[in-house]
Amino acid sequence: PVTRRTLLVTGGAGFIGANFVHHWCTVYPEDRVIVLDALTYAGNRSNLADWEGKENFQFIQGDICDRSLVDQILQTEAIDTIAHFAAESHVDRSILGPAAFVQTNVIGTFTLLEAFLQHWRARGQPDNYRFLHVSTDEVYGSLTTDDPPFTEKTPYAPNSPYSASKAGSDHLVRAYYHTYKLPTIITNCSNNYGPYQFPEKLIPLMCINCLLGKQLPVYGDGQNIRDWLYVGDHCTALDLVIHQGLPGETYNIGGNNEVKNIDLVQMLCQLMDELAVDLPVRPSQELITFVQDRLGHDRRYAIDASKIATQLGWTPAVTVTEGLRRTVEWYLMHRSWWKPLLSKQYQEYYDKVYLTQ
Ligand code: NAD
Repeated sequence: PVTRRTLLVTGGAGFIGANFVHHWCTVYPEDRVIVLDALTYAGNRSNLADWEGKENFQFIQGDICDRSLVDQILQTEAIDTIAHFAAESHVDRSILGPAAFVQTNVIGTFTLLEAFLQHWRARGQPDNYRFLHVSTDEVYGSLTTDDPPFTEKTPYAPNSPYSASKAGSDHLVRAYYHTYKLPTIITNCSNNYGPYQFPEKLIPLMCINCLLGKQLPVYGDGQNIRDWLYVGDHCTALDLVIHQGLPGETYNIGGNNEVKNIDLVQMLCQLMDELAVDLPVRPSQELITFVQDRLGHDRRYAIDASKIATQLGWTPAVTVTEGLRRTVEWYLMHRSWWKPLLSKQYQEYYDKVYLTQ
């Protein structure tokens, strides 16, 4: 028999969280989904407009560090599953101001764990409860081009305030399983891309700057390598992990798509030239500008996703060629979504990162 779930999705108004809510509400319309999101600069309630007002959906604006609010939601809504996405997620911002990263990523995760532990115990430690902690491959540090990809056994070696704060939260989640047997699962994934990603991240940034005729800033020599995971593939992986993953386990989730940053930007430029009718500068690659490297910039991340493939039968379905095309089309079709996000504050942040070099 299919068990209905009642999910608390933290950070559900952000990029991956919103895609996850779309996935879950579409595939499991009988389940209840409650989103808790503080609506920081990265959160956008309109991402969830399709579900607002629906019987099985609820949006609550609030902070995951607010213990009494979290307690109240867990109890009154009878939450059995937490899908934890809420975080400060942008490496460049963590270099400029790490405090918010420690607060939300470490203290916030700790608050959720404490509240969920108490709630799980009060309900008699049911087997079907799950705490899914969505984390990053950046906790494993940086690879050289010759190193094998990260596995779940790769030692942690975070290099940025962002990845250090995520590593701290991962350790707490792990400890709550080992110490209290709280049914937690950790996933570590590579760079996501797709609809609803905030303009500061590499792929939307390049698409939007092409449309505005602005320079396309590429860090350092552009040879840094990232693995790219289409967000829809990520959501199907998380769905499987919630339903079939084993408590106490970690699953790496990757796209099998390692690409050098400069090659990715070139691919985006070609797509923009093909799909956008109104480019101020054409060909777009004339806008590419190499800028001073990010401090402590990791050279390469790569994921060995064979554990989730063999144990849960998940492999990514979307190639980077297909995923980039879909993403570019989405940003072209949804200008009214991203234009308001280019606020004065955003511009101030942008100028600090790219123009003061
Ligand atoms: P995002 O920045 O787009 O969204 C984060 C969301 O969390 C926002 O809606 C924000 O309002 C909310 N939030 C922030 N602080 C909060 C707080 N204190 N209380 C409640 N809500 C708060 O991030 P994303 O890219 O969707 O990433 C989601 C998760 O996936 C994060 O945990 C991130 O570390 C992880 N991750 C992301 C990527 C990626 O490529 N985007 C890769 C690996 C892991």
